[in-house]
Amino acid sequence: MSIHNSQLTIHNIPVCEPYLNGNEKAYVADCMETGWISSSGKYVKAFEESFAKYCDCNYGVAVCNGTVSLHLALAALGIGKGDEVILPDFTMIASAYSVCYTGAKPVFVDADKDTWNIDVTKIEEKITDKTKAILPVHIFGNPCNMKEIERIAKKYNLFIIEDAAEAHGATYDGKKVGSFSDIASFSFFANKNLTTGEGGMVVMKEQKYYDKCRYLKNMSFPIDAPRVYEHNDIGFNYRMSNIHAAIGLAQVEKADEYKEMRIKNHNLYKEYLKDVKGIIFQKDEENSVNVCWMNTILLEPEIYGHTKEELIAHLKENGVDTRLLFTGMHRQKCLLDFGCDGSGEYPVTDNLTKNGFYLPSASNLSKEDIEYICNLIKEFRK
Ligand SMILES: *Cc1c(COP(=O)(O)O)cnc(C)c1O
Repeated sequence: MSIHNSQLTIHNIPVCEPYLNGNEKAYVADCMETGWISSSGKYVKAFEESFAKYCDCNYGVAVCNGTVSLHLALAALGIGKGDEVILPDFTMIASAYSVCYTGAKPVFVDADKDTWNIDVTKIEEKITDKTKAILPVHIFGNPCNMKEIERIAKKYNLFIIEDAAEAHGATYDGKKVGSFSDIASFSFFANKNLTTGEGGMVVMKEQKYYDKCRYLKNMSFPIDAPRVYEHNDIGFNYRMSNIHAAIGLAQVEKADEYKEMRIKNHNLYKEYLKDVKGIIFQKDEENSVNVCWMNTILLEPEIYGHTKEELIAHLKENGVDTRLLFTGMHRQKCLLDFGCDGSGEYPVTDNLTKNGFYLPSASNLSKEDIEYICNLIKEFRK
């Protein structure tokens, strides 16, 4: 957004705002008018069906955020105390928390230096007798090397649980992310490519996992049966409201449009910054479509001539908001206290944490805004 007057233009570009330009309002109004505001409403089912289909999956189970969605997937696969789950060191902490919730232990693998996803050449050395699953994360919308992950999972008889929170609609080898898993997880937080404000969903191909997720999600009440108040398993209340699902359905209707906007913006950033030395972009995984959740750049300070902190401050002074990248899992006190092994080297994650950050990334960012941001970065270079 820009405010113009005769002398100057004041810029104020937030890092990522939601974009709601379809049927969101109409569907939410329908929930209000009919009184269907809890999780027992028609939009929940409609959202689950349409999003599962969008992910090349048979079933979806909507939940209240992407963190519990990961937990539900792990719990439904029977992962628990004594088990280990392999995940990338460079990820949002929810990926690791969800494993801790089950009592299992997260095991970290450094990022690949080009794609910033889990380094598939370093997975096998972390596998032990206790390993039950691989939890790959499609970082910033870039699909992981699923061919290699599938090969390893098959060889060691491991589950795959994709954390696709950042990658709605991304494809690998022509197939949608989410469809490579036993159970996959998505988030619909406000800054994600598709949003319900707060929300999440697990998607799957097999009915047995669909039934297990529906059962655990709703207090372990019997599914598709008369309600009785006797419970055989510790269940969760992870239900999504009809109001949130109404927003979600409207978002899925626009999913491909939003995806194209994100990709187009990312390509504009790359184009405008292509001659600026010392700025590196994430490299797309081969055979894949990266849906470009966040426009992330990695600085080589010696080449660019300024540190990340200096560039961020310069952008801030000129009305451009940015965000830092994740700190590696091997450096998180809570995870080390939990018993995770933080020893060893994670140079790629550490470099991303130290020298990387996000530029504004909303789907509806204008070409002029992107040009303005890139000019600031260009002119600041020493
Ligand atoms: C956003 C995100 C989550 C968590 O989703 P919430 O809906 O915020 O709980 C999990 N994993 C990754 C990789 C994310 O980016």
